[in-house]
Amino acid sequence: MVDLRSDTLTQPTSGMRRAMAEAVVGDEQKREDPTVIALEERAAALLGHDAAIYLPTATMGNQIALRLLSEPGDEVVAEGSSHVFRYELGGPAVHGGLAMKPLASEDGLLTPEDVRAAVNPPGDLHMAPTRILSLENTHNGGGGRVWPLDRFSDVVAEARAQGLRVHLDGARLLNAAVAAGVSAADYGREADTVTLCLSKGLGCPLGAVIATSSELAPKARRFKHLFGGAMRQAGVVAATGLYALDHHVERLAEDHANARRLGEGLAEAGLPVACDAIESNFVLVHVESIGIAADDAVARLRAEGVLLSFAAKRGVLRAVTHLDVSAEDIDRAIPAIARALSRRAAPVRAAADVPTAY
Ligand SMILES: *Cc1c(COP(=O)(O)O)cnc(C)c1O
Repeated sequence: MVDLRSDTLTQPTSGMRRAMAEAVVGDEQKREDPTVIALEERAAALLGHDAAIYLPTATMGNQIALRLLSEPGDEVVAEGSSHVFRYELGGPAVHGGLAMKPLASEDGLLTPEDVRAAVNPPGDLHMAPTRILSLENTHNGGGGRVWPLDRFSDVVAEARAQGLRVHLDGARLLNAAVAAGVSAADYGREADTVTLCLSKGLGCPLGAVIATSSELAPKARRFKHLFGGAMRQAGVVAATGLYALDHHVERLAEDHANARRLGEGLAEAGLPVACDAIESNFVLVHVESIGIAADDAVARLRAEGVLLSFAAKRGVLRAVTHLDVSAEDIDRAIPAIARALSRRAAPVRAAADVPTAY
């Protein structure tokens, strides 16, 4: 099987397991775990902030951030397919008491005009005060799209001009930084809070960090504890984060090259892949546009030895490259995917309904 469902599937490498075995640990909740503290210091610098807080998941990081930057009854604005809105079970409403305003976009990226138009009139007593803009880089739902740094800065500047606070869901921020050829801190310092997931392309079994200012960090730690995220000898896992930052960052370029190679191979085989949209480790295949329902396509692919998952958009499958996917796997996957999707079925949607981007 070539498993391209997600970069969450990576197994800890032997070097990573050695780092776990050798980790010096203590009670993390009492700030006595030297490995956790080392990871937090390193992550703060990496993300362009004073402080970082180690967490079990990036979902918790996002939820802490939104709670931290708002009061119940405020409004958070984000692109509609963003992880905080679509894949966190309504968490902003539950944990932060926030009204959620989703904005439409093809690729997950927003414009300053989108932000300006989304802000409720300040002082209007009938409307939730728009408080937070949450951005995502790379954008998962958009197909692993990378924010160009200048465009990111322009959108943040507009948010600031509107009096908003800015959260960056940087679950895959290092993919974005490697792809864009800029530092993660260049994106990170623009935002009030940044989350980074360690268990995606970085290959850790679990873990995430939230980075923020020294003013906000104590409150963020309080929410970490409140949300049940304060741990004990967590250094045994934090050691994987340090290991990943040493060994698994530059190599993300290999995942991106594999994704491109996969996309180009599939496009050459006549499959509906927009190669221009491949900017990191995601490849989207618009199976419905060739008359194959997404669930049917997944089953056909499985029979050919390749696993893909559903993308955020209807009728689109997602292939994700990662640490455990080699160039040889890609060479095997291309003809297998082409075989699986070559037997055309009856169209499930009228051609005119198919989103034009794909
Ligand atoms: C996976 C993901 C998260 C959540 O990460 P977990 O560590 O699995 O909770 C948050 N945001 C984005 C964009 C993601 O892709």
